[in-house]
Amino acid sequence: MNLREQRAKQMMESTGYATQFESTKFKVRSQTNPEKFYIVSRTGNGLICECMDHITRKADCKHIKITLELIMKNKCYRNNIFRIMERSALNLCKYCDSGRITKKGTRKNKNGNVQIFKCLDCKKKFSTNYGFEKTRFDVNTITGALQMYYSGMSTRDISNHYEMMGIEVSCVTIYEWICKYSTMVSKYLNEIVPRTGNWVRADEVWIKVNGEQKYLFASMDDDTRYWLASDMADTKFQHNADNLLKLTKEAIGKNPTQFITDGLPAYKKSSKRIFGKKTQHTRHIHIQGDMNNNKMERLNGEIRDREKVFRGLKKIDTPILDGMKAYYNFTKKHGALKGKTPSEEALIKVDGKNRWKTIIQNASLHKANSN
Ligand SMILES: [Zn+2]
Ligand SMILES: [Zn+2]
Repeated sequence: MNLREQRAKQMMESTGYATQFESTKFKVRSQTNPEKFYIVSRTGNGLICECMDHITRKADCKHIKITLELIMKNKCYRNNIFRIMERSALNLCKYCDSGRITKKGTRKNKNGNVQIFKCLDCKKKFSTNYGFEKTRFDVNTITGALQMYYSGMSTRDISNHYEMMGIEVSCVTIYEWICKYSTMVSKYLNEIVPRTGNWVRADEVWIKVNGEQKYLFASMDDDTRYWLASDMADTKFQHNADNLLKLTKEAIGKNPTQFITDGLPAYKKSSKRIFGKKTQHTRHIHIQGDMNNNKMERLNGEIRDREKVFRGLKKIDTPILDGMKAYYNFTKKHGALKGKTPSEEALIKVDGKNRWKTIIQNASLHKANSN
């Protein structure tokens, strides 16, 4: 991290550093003089700041860095659509985001030739297969395996499927991909705040982990069906729901006005403790054929349908559930949402046909930049 980034990060950590006051304008507080604000504007040519640093250097000042962070995490205006772009299609430097890059020959790998680029600003060389740098497998093979696994196929089924197509890949390799990429994308996606409504539902469903019965507590936004958070427990009745509610609050960045659960007593106490008195807790008693509860039951059903696959779950802090959440929110089209995914409904747009690929590209660069 260089000095400029360090300063930007310091400012990020102090509260009230920046706000969006119009759809294209942001106010960032000066670090040296707390009374002073700089206006950062969104234009056709990117972000522009009024500070001297930006005017003289024509590069990103610390205010622009802070604004970018705000946009990156989708913590701004209600009607702002957050776009996860196909990073490889943007033609930007991997390291400094400069647009001044040039082709610099190719490198051979087991998959064929890989185009190498060189940045004219920072002089570094890079290829654009972000997130898939060291693999001999095709991007579509890897992301296809993720999609098939979370749709309910076992690693054995997937391996057999690929064998038929002339691709030799073992169950172990497939399982490694699933763990690696599920961890990678969930870290990235958890920082993006979905545009949710004010009603949250929570429910629990039992699944088997390593042969033992466990309860998965999950919460969902009522409007968008976005799966917000989950927490695993050994028992249903003695479990404390605080952690689930904390994670839920973190995911939406606010307290819900309505919190709807079944009759489980744990929710009542936790709601008061974590959300506070302003949140109304409604206990929804299960009645068969009740339309309202179908919202949560669909998610529960999705999880239960994959229980066979989840037998691969080795431990409680498995990345599989995170991957399942990414699959459910970002790739699964929802009938009740007119064929949209919950993430689209929550104003997060993923570019490109292969959403896993787009998300992995961004997640991999995000990881590289946050070190
Ligand atoms: Zn500035
Ligand atoms: Zn560069």
